[in-house]
Order: sequence, then structure tokens, then C-alpha cells
Amino acid sequence: RPEPVHNDVVHRELFALGTLIQISVAGHIEPAVMNQAQAALTDLETRWSVLGDGDLAQLNKTLQTQTSAPLPSTLQAGFAAARQLCLDSGGRFDPGVGDLVRLWGFDDEDHFRTTPPPADQLNAALQQRSSLCDSHIDPQTVVVDQVPARFDFGASAKGRAVDEVIALLQAAGIHNAIINAGGDIKVIGRRAQRAWRIGIRHPRPVDGRTMLASLQVHDGEAIFTSGDYERFFIDNGVRYHHILDPRTGLPAMGSQSATVLHSSAERADAAATALFVAGAQDAASVMQQMGVDSWLLVDANGRLHASDAMRARIPDLASQ
Ligand code: ADP
Ligand code: MG
Ligand code: MG
Repeated sequence: RPEPVHNDVVHRELFALGTLIQISVAGHIEPAVMNQAQAALTDLETRWSVLGDGDLAQLNKTLQTQTSAPLPSTLQAGFAAARQLCLDSGGRFDPGVGDLVRLWGFDDEDHFRTTPPPADQLNAALQQRSSLCDSHIDPQTVVVDQVPARFDFGASAKGRAVDEVIALLQAAGIHNAIINAGGDIKVIGRRAQRAWRIGIRHPRPVDGRTMLASLQVHDGEAIFTSGDYERFFIDNGVRYHHILDPRTGLPAMGSQSATVLHSSAERADAAATALFVAGAQDAASVMQQMGVDSWLLVDANGRLHASDAMRARIPDLASQ
């Protein structure tokens, strides 16, 4: 079908990786290339999903009873990258939270809970989990500490997918494009005469103000946000959301939203999750360990914390 064109920008919208994804290209793009990009996203979704019977789901099934499982070639690079990110984050980003995420019901809309899981079940899941940081990748085999183990890449697969689709577009000769995956973004080139401009969502919209800040995003930059407003339930006035502290098994309570800018969307995605878990106190040191210069955190009290590099990008941030 023909792509809609607005101001010489061609758009394609699809639903994948649990979110609405918009691919926008300034100038011309062959429909076949758009189709390839769309097919790649659908394929990555199946590959990295914990549900269904894609590559990761099958691997998790093996790790229910065996401490060692063959890593299919489709998962090798992603596992190795995520393990390094786990180490860089000091274990704050850790796909080895799979059973905890499942216990909280955040992996599947059909498991949705309205109260926290019982403490004994949480403690058991915390004791028996295998961290990806401590797992061995050989790279054709993954070996975990103990079984059952379950990996969940909900905090980095979207970033990895965005990097892959940008690379696919570049290989097809596209120089100016933006991918917006539910507010998480990566950009190449520019939009006609102007830079691409994006908004960061306000974690607690007030008086119709839905944006926390907006900024120009330049060639090769990605910007990712993790927030406690994406998936949550409220019980007894407490908000229980989907970003867990791997050390406690509980939703990380110090933050409302965390935003990271980096050239790698995969690193930005993982680092946004790690920053959310780190909270204001550890933000600067954890971001430094993860090689992130530009970050922005809204703490549990709604206060803004940002690196100098991010403040330089958003001049009116101080008055927000
Ligand atoms: P979003 O869902 O808004 O993209 P994140 O990128 O932070 O937010 O990913 C959150 C998802 O990652 C959760 O739904 C869960 O599947 C998984 N997850 C939760 N906590 C962690 C963690 N500390 N480290 C790695 N993955 C996590
Ligand atoms: Mg993330
Ligand atoms: Mg995310």
C-alpha cells in the first residue's frame, strides 16, 4: 500500500514489541524497504518474547530443568551484549529477573494482578533466580547458576530492535529517518531543513501538560525512557509497577521516570532501566559506569535530576 506522506516525510505505523512503532523517513523510500523494516520488527518480537514459542521462550523452557542450554545464533549477540550491560549496571539491569517479572504478572496481560505476590513466593523466586551477570556465555551455550531460570529482555530488546532497523535502513541507502517506539526514539540524519525534535513524557501529567521537556535529537542518537506509568496497579495507595529492583524483587521505589540519551539504542534502553533502579543517589556513578553522559531522572517526589550534558541539551530544564 502507498505510504502516507506529510511534508516530504514518509510514515509507516505498526504494532510490535508491545508498542506502537512509527518509522518515518524524510524523502524517498522504496515500499519494499519499509516492508523489510516491518518484517524485521515482527521477527525480532517473536525471537525475544517470553510468551509463545519463539527462540527465547524455547530457551527458557530448557532452563526450567537444565543449567545449560544451546544459544541459537539469533540470540547470541543479544545475550552477550545484555550480559555486559548487566555487569556495567552493577546488576541493576538484569534480564535474570524473568521469574520475578512473571510472579508480579507484568509479563502477560492475562496474568494481571491487583495485589502484590505473597512474600514467601517472592522470597523463593529471589533466592532461586540466576543473574545474567553471573551466567556464562560461550557463545553458543548459556550456563546458569541454578534451575529453574528465566530470562526476560523486556528492558533492552526494544532498543536492540531499533538499532537493527536503523542499520537496515542505512544499508538500503536511507540517510534521514526516525523510529519512534512508544516514545523511545532513534534518529539518523535530519528532517528536511530541521533537526528531528522529540518530547519526553511527563510521568505525572498535570493540567494537560503531557511533556516534561522537548529536545532536538541529532544524527545517530537514541533516547529511551523507563517510567512507572507504563504497567502498574495500585493497591492500598501504593503503585506497584513493572521495573523491578533485582536485589529485592520489588518494584524500584525511588523514581517516577528515567531517560537516557546514547548512540546505541540498546544501551540507552538498558541504561534507562538501570537509572530508574539506581534512583537519584546512585544515578551519576551508575551512568558513568554505563558510559552514559546524558541522563535525566524524575525521583519519587517529582524532583528532576540531570547530568550537565543533558542540561546543556535542554536549556529550560532548570525552570521545569
Ligand atoms: P518499558 O517497558 O517502558 O520499555 P523498561 O525498558 O524499563 O520499560 O523495561 C521494563 C521491562 O523489563 C519489564 O516489563 C520487565 O519485563 C523487565 N524488567 C523489569 N525490571 C528489570 C530489571 N531491573 N532489569 C532488566 N529487566 C527488567
Ligand atoms: Mg529499558
Ligand atoms: Mg523501555
